Amino acid sequence: MDTSDPPGGELPAVEYLRRVLEAEGIETKTFATDPKRPNLVARLRGNGTKRPLLIMAHTDTVNVDPKKWKHPPFSATREGEHIYGRGTVDDKDNVAAGLMTMLLLKRTKVPLDRDVIFLAEAGEEGAVQFGIEFMVNQHFAEIDAEFCLAEGGRIVRTGGKVQYGSVQTTEKVPNRIRVIARGVAGHGSVPLRSNAIVHLARTIANIADWQTQMRLNETTRAFFERLATISEPEDAARYRAILRGDENGAAQEYFAEKKPALHSVLRTSISPNIITGGYRVNVIPSEVEATLDVRALPDEDMPRFFEQLRKVINDPAIELERAPGHTRPGAPPSSLHTEAFTLIEAAIKRHYGAITLPTMSTGATDMAFLRARGIQCFGIGPMIDSEDGPKGFGAHSDQERILVEAFTKFVRFNCNAFREFMRFSLVS
Ligand SMILES: [Zn+2]
Repeated sequence: MDTSDPPGGELPAVEYLRRVLEAEGIETKTFATDPKRPNLVARLRGNGTKRPLLIMAHTDTVNVDPKKWKHPPFSATREGEHIYGRGTVDDKDNVAAGLMTMLLLKRTKVPLDRDVIFLAEAGEEGAVQFGIEFMVNQHFAEIDAEFCLAEGGRIVRTGGKVQYGSVQTTEKVPNRIRVIARGVAGHGSVPLRSNAIVHLARTIANIADWQTQMRLNETTRAFFERLATISEPEDAARYRAILRGDENGAAQEYFAEKKPALHSVLRTSISPNIITGGYRVNVIPSEVEATLDVRALPDEDMPRFFEQLRKVINDPAIELERAPGHTRPGAPPSSLHTEAFTLIEAAIKRHYGAITLPTMSTGATDMAFLRARGIQCFGIGPMIDSEDGPKGFGAHSDQERILVEAFTKFVRFNCNAFREFMRFSLVS
């Protein structure tokens, strides 16, 4: 089903899910601001002893360039060990696993001490006003839960060997900042010290040289502690240096150079990504600007961060402004001391024989909306060969694929984990 977004016609996927769920006697509802872009909510009723569990997955996908695909991008063609298709790892794997979990919980008549809710949401790929934002603002009671499981994690395999499972427990908060430089306009034949381009260029260089303060939270601390136990000695030493609070040593420099994602999870990060200014070679422009992509730690004090940034810039010709744009709310990390995390961790051990690393995404996900409303959220995912993304087969790539084995295992993992969940919560 082509549900690429934009334009995002999720209706065929929702109709399919509704048909399958209702054929098994599971009640469903749909909610939409645009009839072509519905969200589906299915619910299995428990005895209400505990607050519900939410399984969330998105039915839209990013776009495709069919010329780049060996197999038609919405055919789900199986070749060799893989299934090829847009959405195979983002996020129709979670949709399929969520659906099967609902069907199996129903068929096996597992006694439920809480409701299990399945939300197949629209618009995750950049149109949250049709999906999670709309559901949280208008129909929160339909999806309100104690815990939520959604995309955002994976089982990492390298060289055919499972290394670890990652479970997303928190994420950074996106912010956009405009940097505006103002100077006197003039003739290009008479250079001016006040040239706005020169001031902006200096400012960008100063920002790039500023290493923002490092700060660990429960998630990133556990991440580095556990990663150290499964890493080569040299890497492990770097992770332990970070855990000791080493802010300016060789480890930081190494991450900045070789492992930029690890450097980013340690701090609020700044990347200058747009710069505009000047329009004629013989005119000194009076105003130029740049836009910074700032990814804040979940607990960042943004007004204070602005003050620090101003000090780093230290130039009266420069003005800072929050730029408008869709963002996601900040929220505290989901706790590792919850029955949900304990259960997921145990299930990863059982199914894959691997350690679980709690992770903080540097990018934003729809779980941010739910965490901001007090739901403990955990991002999970199938087994992925770490070599596959760089070869061009990852999420959002020109081609996308999943291992058949990873897919079936992920479905089984979900079904068993949720069944366990019921047992777990009954005895706890
Ligand atoms: Zn996704």
